[in-house]
Amino acid sequence: MTTSSPALLGCIADDFTGATDLANMLVRGGMRTIQTIGVPNAPLDEPAEAIVVALKSRTAPREDAISESLAALAWLRERGCRQFYLKYCSTFDSTAKGNIGPVADALMEALDVSFAIACPAFPEAGRTVYRGHLFVGDVLLNESGMQNHPLTPMTDANLVRVLQQQTRQRVGLLRYDSVQRGVEAIHEARFALAAQDIGLAIADAISDDDLYRLGAACANDVLLTGGSGLALGLPRNFANAGLLPEAASAAQLPAIEGPAAVLSGSCSRATNGQVAHWREQGRPAFRIDPLALAANRPVVAEALEFARARIEHEPVLLYATSEPDDVAAVQQALGAAQSGALVENAMATIARQLRDDGMRRFVVAGGETSGAVVKALGVTSLRIGPQIDPGVPWTASLGTPALALALKSGNFGTPDFFSKALTQCEAVAR
Ligand code: ADP
Repeated sequence: MTTSSPALLGCIADDFTGATDLANMLVRGGMRTIQTIGVPNAPLDEPAEAIVVALKSRTAPREDAISESLAALAWLRERGCRQFYLKYCSTFDSTAKGNIGPVADALMEALDVSFAIACPAFPEAGRTVYRGHLFVGDVLLNESGMQNHPLTPMTDANLVRVLQQQTRQRVGLLRYDSVQRGVEAIHEARFALAAQDIGLAIADAISDDDLYRLGAACANDVLLTGGSGLALGLPRNFANAGLLPEAASAAQLPAIEGPAAVLSGSCSRATNGQVAHWREQGRPAFRIDPLALAANRPVVAEALEFARARIEHEPVLLYATSEPDDVAAVQQALGAAQSGALVENAMATIARQLRDDGMRRFVVAGGETSGAVVKALGVTSLRIGPQIDPGVPWTASLGTPALALALKSGNFGTPDFFSKALTQCEAVAR
């Protein structure tokens, strides 16, 4: 056990940006939140009511997903957490064998829990669950494009059936009729399910109010499983118990001053728009060309020279972001994995060099790109700060030197995201 007061809520997230999404939600609810990258190998003596351990277990081999999740659980228990949360994607991304079901089974066994809710609903992002079926916007999950996902194709929207294929528990449905009627009705429905030996129940939810009711009804659950939406109601439970500090302080970050840069390795539609917007504003931008990297041209040195000439005066954007046709041509020439690795390595080297030059604030676009940059910077945990856009908060790395990091997965953020993030960071630093 560490010297700061124990955390309350311990979360295990199956991917990095999903972890940040959840952490952002908890901060908004008034819980000071730390996100760790993987299971820390040392105690973490930082004040926080919630800790989110970000794993890469969504598509990992099942045994690895289970063992990493159990290691995360053990670490969170050591940290004093009293409630635990398995976070997965709001589109229930999983393979036929898992990993949601097997990890839930393992956590239930380790925590000696016989019943847990499973609810990926996130109405704010268009994900709703009704009669056990997951909708993405107006269509069923299996018609949403997710049926074609390269790693986790979701071909059935009936989550009771999907989860039943992955778990040892009997899976049931906590119907909308009960969820809508309120906490008492939810409790009654849960007792009825438990009496039928049901261990995991998909919970219907089509609005934030439903999630708040579910959250309130699960106040004493040792384990919850869900997307980030199900966490909406949890801070209120701790606040009602008088366990949270002033809400205003939850998103507070230390002031981090110093030059800023934007590193963009995402080729998603939103990021292409953000890069175009930055350039249209006449702000400094340097393009990193994967084909030039492959030809061993000194692209990294040129990018650094470009940045160093400007960073004392204004933030720069260094980007590999390209439109789909260009990406396809590069992948055709170099192979998808090779082109991705080339760009990620370049971004990682640039980030490390700039950090050594005194750069202290980074906006990074791209999930994989963020992973590569954070690793190169040696960052292992983050304090979560104020939201920039839904799902993307400013964060501050723990350790020295402290870095301000905004890590954006591809499709998040408005067109002016880069400028907006930097302006907001200026305001924090002041
Ligand atoms: P997103 O969150 O948008 O999916 P990621 O960073 O996760 O972004 O993935 C983008 C991938 O594309 C990374 O591996 C990155 O290195 C690679 N990449 C970036 N620019 C290019 C490019 N111009 N051509 C080919 N691949 C690229």
